[in-house]
Amino acid sequence: MKPIQEIFPLLRQPKKVVITTHQKPDADAMGSSLALANFLKQFGHSVTVISPTNWAAFLNWMPGCKEVLDYEKTIDKSIKILKEAEWLFCLDFNALHRTKNMTNTLTQLNCVKILIDHHIEPQVEVFDYGYSLTSKSSTSEMVYDVIVESGHDDMINESIAECLYAGAMTDTGSFRFNSANETVHLMVADLKRRGLKHSQVHENIYDNFLENRLRFIGHMLLNRMEIFYEYNAALISISKQDLLRYEMKTGDTEGLVNYPLTIQGIKLAALVIDRDEERKWSFRSKGDFDCNTFARKHFEGGGHFNAAGGRSSDSLDQTVSKFKKVIKEYENQLQQQ
Ligand code: 5GP
Ligand code: MN
Repeated sequence: MKPIQEIFPLLRQPKKVVITTHQKPDADAMGSSLALANFLKQFGHSVTVISPTNWAAFLNWMPGCKEVLDYEKTIDKSIKILKEAEWLFCLDFNALHRTKNMTNTLTQLNCVKILIDHHIEPQVEVFDYGYSLTSKSSTSEMVYDVIVESGHDDMINESIAECLYAGAMTDTGSFRFNSANETVHLMVADLKRRGLKHSQVHENIYDNFLENRLRFIGHMLLNRMEIFYEYNAALISISKQDLLRYEMKTGDTEGLVNYPLTIQGIKLAALVIDRDEERKWSFRSKGDFDCNTFARKHFEGGGHFNAAGGRSSDSLDQTVSKFKKVIKEYENQLQQQ
């Protein structure tokens, strides 16, 4: 994987470009993709953003989101566009399998593949060019770096600023996690100078849900959260029945995993959702508990040190039992405060 700077001289030659990201894109995945798309279009590139799956409705306000293709709903059209692409940008994921049903199609493409991502252990052999840095707050901050380093910061308009801010804000837990380093604050200062209305972005993302989601969260915290004080750990498990009863949609469960960490002493919070095709895990930790290694070792996943995800083909009950069993191995580590 060569440094991304090597493509900078080629930016002015219009190309067919596809930008893609991980399945069930979050605000960083979608924000970084749409910001990059807006930037590249200003050079005359023909740009399509393709998401491997659907996404949360609270992202629909993002400028350009309406034109994003959902691969699962537009397979033929998406494959045609992917086959014609000269450049493929892969944003906010480290390994092609994170694009779910798109993985095979992407693997077979011969076009130039470019990675921009902040996850641990990227699949470097797959990408021609890349910018991979785990110390970065968000992929959105990295897209900002690319724009600035390429010498085109004058192209950062309000739409780009909103998308980049949304990604950085959500990935840093509203700038509270360790990942909210000096450089992301400097980016925000620069975006503010360029006219960013940051409170509007917060409202668009956090104050735009339906009543049923709040009722659902209440139900989860009251009836579906288990606390294991001996391990300073907590677990929320969500059944299909609960999802149906409260009519939960993609994105409605986002953020729920963080609630148990607000309890004094809790170091590890886990959340598992019974999806049709798999059981999807989310892990969040405080301090020195390494969620990435934990998710990789036990739940076919990975991510960052304090935030990772995973999956299982077992039933909900089986995978929950496995979690309860494996945390015992971490008793010493979890007990240290
Ligand atoms: P979330 O719990 O919000 O789905 O994911 C937390 C973090 O872990 C995100 O950075 C996400 O990209 C990453 N992640 C989630 N699921 C997986 C997975 O199955 N494999 C890997 N490698 N990373 C994941
Ligand atoms: Mn991210």
